[in-house]
Amino acid sequence: MPLHLKNLSVLFAIAILFHLKVSAQPISKYRVCFGTAGDNLLVMRSFERGGQSYYLAADAATLTTRLYTAAQLTVTQSTLSQTLAKLHNSAYSRAIAAALQQSYSLQDAGVSHGFAKEKGISLTIDLCPSHKPLDRVIFASLINSFKKVKMPVPVAMSVTGRFMLTHGDDIEWLKSLQKAGDLDITWINHTYNHHFNPGIPLKENFLLEPGTDVNFEILGTETAMLQHGLTPSVFFRFPGLVSDHSLVDKVTAYGLIPVGTDAWLAKGQNAATGSIVLIHGNGNEPVGVKDFIKLLSAQAPEIMNKQWLLYDLSETVEDEFSLNQK
Ligand SMILES: [Zn+2]
Repeated sequence: MPLHLKNLSVLFAIAILFHLKVSAQPISKYRVCFGTAGDNLLVMRSFERGGQSYYLAADAATLTTRLYTAAQLTVTQSTLSQTLAKLHNSAYSRAIAAALQQSYSLQDAGVSHGFAKEKGISLTIDLCPSHKPLDRVIFASLINSFKKVKMPVPVAMSVTGRFMLTHGDDIEWLKSLQKAGDLDITWINHTYNHHFNPGIPLKENFLLEPGTDVNFEILGTETAMLQHGLTPSVFFRFPGLVSDHSLVDKVTAYGLIPVGTDAWLAKGQNAATGSIVLIHGNGNEPVGVKDFIKLLSAQAPEIMNKQWLLYDLSETVEDEFSLNQK
């Protein structure tokens, strides 16, 4: 065999092995399953993988999630409303209730501002479907700004199923930054398809498009996240930030907390202390990325003096809704 063909077959073999590794042990029986375990743990989903049963569960106080094997937890199954009632004083229950109250306008439902002990913001980066590569300069700037101050840098990424489908290398790159201790990523469900039609009114657009399979948009995305090695958080971001009351009702029924924004930089909204800032990292919003990098360099002296911080989304929402605000 000529050398270049040999090289090609080696490459093929590597590609197949890589594919097998990623797609090994597919997730099955993924379903909504509510209950409690211990004092603070809210069980949200159950699934099977490689002959083993798992739970996805959230800490109702800290709003962080992780996976457990079935053997690790003793679960008392209940409905979501029973679970919320049991955990009624938790930041989680209070955040869900607040999101439902903020659900009557067509845009920006849910939690759009956090609590910051000092000056600083929480950063959310949306990965809507895109043909362009991930805007990696955002992460390089973040790491460069905070490397002498506080590592890892907390960021929340709203990921779509279709972005994961076509940007496997970008997802692996982000995971490598997390593994290296540079980033601490909270993964937000941003739906699978993220349909948008510029020609139709908002009330029938995005996730409000008639015929949308909301169950697949939510659970299909979570399954894809797990398949890529990402742990879904308790947070959800509506495509286009568009929803109505009944849709917020549907999404919170999955135990998810919708997150809006009070500082979409590309729309000219300014970041203030406690803001949940929104930029797009999918290559389609260079203005927002430029504004964010400008914001970072304007805050550089304060960042160096630890007077301007980036807050973890779970932490800032926890502090906003916790009964014993520090
Ligand atoms: Zn989006």
